[in-house]
Amino acid sequence: MSKIILTGDRPTGRLHIGHYAGSLRGRVELQNSGEYDKIYIMIADAQALTDNADNPERVRQNVIEVALDYLSVGLDPTKSTLFIQSQISELTELTFYYMNLVTVSRLQRNPTVKNEIQLRNFETSIPVGFFTYPISQAADITFCKATVVPVGEDQLPMIEQTKEIVHKFNAIYAPENPVLIEPKALLPQAEACKRLPGTDGKAKMSKSLGNCIYLTDSDKEVKAKIMSMYTDPLHLQVSDPGHLEGNTVFTYLDAFARDEHFERYCPEYANLEEMKAHYTKGGLGDVKVKKLLINIMQEVLEPIRMRRAQFETDIPEVYNILKKGSDAAREVAAQTLSEVKSAMKIDYFEDAELIKAQSALYAK
Ligand code: ATP
Ligand code: MG
Repeated sequence: MSKIILTGDRPTGRLHIGHYAGSLRGRVELQNSGEYDKIYIMIADAQALTDNADNPERVRQNVIEVALDYLSVGLDPTKSTLFIQSQISELTELTFYYMNLVTVSRLQRNPTVKNEIQLRNFETSIPVGFFTYPISQAADITFCKATVVPVGEDQLPMIEQTKEIVHKFNAIYAPENPVLIEPKALLPQAEACKRLPGTDGKAKMSKSLGNCIYLTDSDKEVKAKIMSMYTDPLHLQVSDPGHLEGNTVFTYLDAFARDEHFERYCPEYANLEEMKAHYTKGGLGDVKVKKLLINIMQEVLEPIRMRRAQFETDIPEVYNILKKGSDAAREVAAQTLSEVKSAMKIDYFEDAELIKAQSALYAK
């Protein structure tokens, strides 16, 4: 079986270090590992419109921002297919058929959807499109028969939903020769990267919550955000023992620090474990820890900023990359849709047997 990756992001804002730790960094590694037959990276503009219907300009603007972020972290259009969701109309067709395989109560139970509805204050006025986006995500994942979906932890219920749809589709329509493939979620290994908290210490760094360090933030902005970050409210004096639990600065260090960073910026500790031990014992101030994090983030972000500046000089080429990727994705989606329609017995004009059988029936 081919090894195929599908993943993507909503163009609701520029991408942040939560995306980087949770997904982008891993995607680039997977892309460069050479172990995958195909890699599809989708800008989910149609999904972004489900909760931004009144703000199409925001979505349109962020399509190019996300594309620039992709290229700047090292996604390479010669190795990965970068495409825009709305340009593949086959995806909406697949969604429509998959809708028959999911109950309203199943969607209502989806913890991510529940949480996002609360965050967006939809209360009782939930757009139907938003409510059903887990189904459209199943279309995104299955159109290219993805086997692996690298995501952050918040997306696990979506992958579960997709698996259920695939299972049900194959059981009903294609029990002998399964048409769709059940995907596997691929989470980052480090606990801190699965759901990086926001700079405000809130559970998740998220474009919609405005608690982000963006990949495009300047050195100065990153410094200011880290210096005002939440640490440990009980750690009032340097000599006080500090706590690591819920201490966002340490969570970011868990996600980004490597031993060589200590050699460069904080040689009195060999690694993060030693620094943590000192912090919990007492005698290590927050400012010193924050300064280390600033240096590390600067080292991570600088090459990304430089690559971005390069791509920003040729925006038409970025659109060209997206157009080519969308054309390639559409071809694959058309093939899967035709298999789906044939399994569902709605391929009337392609099925010569059908016309013959019906003729025979009426000839009697
Ligand atoms: P929005 O607020 O518009 O939903 P978002 O910041 O949640 O935006 P998405 O585009 O929904 O970003 O998510 C894209 C991918 O990035 C998903 O795989 C998601 O799991 C991952 N991701 C997003 N935020 C984080 C985070 N804070 N930590 C780890 N992974 C994340
Ligand atoms: Mg999200």
